[in-house]
Amino acid sequence: MPSRRNFLKMTGGAFALLFGLGQAAKFLPRKALLRPPGGQDEAAFIARCLRCDRCRSICPTSVIGLANLSDGILEARTPVMKFHLGYCSFCNQCVEVCPTHALQPFDSKTVKIGLATVQKDICIAWDSGGCMVCMDACPYHAITLDGQSHPVVDSRQCNGCGICEQICPALVMRSYIGGSIRGIVVTPISGKGDGNI
Ligand code: SF4
Ligand code: SF4
Ligand code: SF4
Repeated sequence: MPSRRNFLKMTGGAFALLFGLGQAAKFLPRKALLRPPGGQDEAAFIARCLRCDRCRSICPTSVIGLANLSDGILEARTPVMKFHLGYCSFCNQCVEVCPTHALQPFDSKTVKIGLATVQKDICIAWDSGGCMVCMDACPYHAITLDGQSHPVVDSRQCNGCGICEQICPALVMRSYIGGSIRGIVVTPISGKGDGNI
């Protein structure tokens, strides 16, 4: 049985360790993540999110997944957008169920989850030509074709809804076996992430 003094020493040490890990995590290089709408202020989001999973459970398009430990100690099990699984309709339901306001009310006309980026080495239009699936699917008219019929994203129009990424047929076989590679992917606005979550 540890004495009271030893017990206090042990618990104090555990708290110090956790505090130290939290402080250390702040200084580790962190990958930018795609958050549900209203969660774009990453510092405020990470401080408030309880990892309660309510947003993920309610999302009608199943676009919300969970960050992994490889995304960071603080980020693990927080909600991230996985556009190979779904897209965001900006329905606001995740914001409404969030108990801590980690997801803040947003203006659906101005909110930006991320920015769609064409992956030239994977895009069918860049490879053999003939594909306009993303352009046709974009409800915000953010994609046009250049002189060689390659898709080009207008960053002013794109809000990162992810429909283009979800629907892109490039490497669809790999997608069925669990991969997430598409010819167009939504990347964080900061540009730190790789968009292939
Ligand atoms: S706004 Fe709606 S569709 Fe978009 S992530 Fe939230 S619950 Fe899902
Ligand atoms: S509902 Fe809010 S607190 Fe809960 S996991 Fe989602 S963002 Fe975090
Ligand atoms: S993410 Fe949405 S708004 Fe942006 S180009 Fe793709 S479909 Fe259009």
